[in-house]
Amino acid sequence: MTLAALQAVAAAELLFVSGLVGLGPGDGLPVEFPTLALLSPDEPGFWDHVTASPEFADGAADPLDRWSSRVIGAMALGLGGMAVFPFGGPPWHPFQRWALRSGRAWTSPVGFVVHDRMGLMASYRGAIALPVRISVPTPAAAPPCKGCAAPCLAACPPGALTGEGYVLPACHAFLDRPEGETCLNAGCLVRRACPLSQTYGRLARQSAWHMRQFHK
Ligand code: SF4
Ligand code: SF4
Repeated sequence: MTLAALQAVAAAELLFVSGLVGLGPGDGLPVEFPTLALLSPDEPGFWDHVTASPEFADGAADPLDRWSSRVIGAMALGLGGMAVFPFGGPPWHPFQRWALRSGRAWTSPVGFVVHDRMGLMASYRGAIALPVRISVPTPAAAPPCKGCAAPCLAACPPGALTGEGYVLPACHAFLDRPEGETCLNAGCLVRRACPLSQTYGRLARQSAWHMRQFHK
């Protein structure tokens, strides 16, 4: 299996291979799978694709996770691999650690993962542990935050998410106020402030959906 073949399978479901990780004994996955392919929304277009699925029409809970389970599960089956997800544990898989090990994501100044394509909109819908070793492309020489003016650090109006950390109650309190509508309707201002987030193509209505899950 080549990386190009894997990318083609993912692209058919508006996903992309957002990182490759060599697996070892500490990863908690069967030894017959030496490579893990992380999968993320391939923007623009992912949201229209996924919201047209049966999971978003049946009115049941967790449509995005159920879509991910069905689609990535079927992909893994076709590839002779094993699907793993960042939800539905235990076991809880170390997606953040895998993302950092992929060489395509780093810890940002605000503590969230920043990805070389998704920026602070980084999200992982799942991953496939593969029965073959795929050579990992050379990662970027330097993290994107190097040389960036770091607008993420000052973007949160109530100062709930800064270089000092994330104060969850302060974020929710701001979202309860009229000024919080800007985050609720188009996504977290910190995530949106990152230049990489801005070129990723994530739709405001997708971010709004996630904000509604976060702030119920
Ligand atoms: S805004 Fe700049 S410093 Fe902040 S996460 Fe994005 S690239 Fe890194
Ligand atoms: S959602 Fe809004 S209030 Fe919450 S951390 Fe992001 S910018 Fe701050």
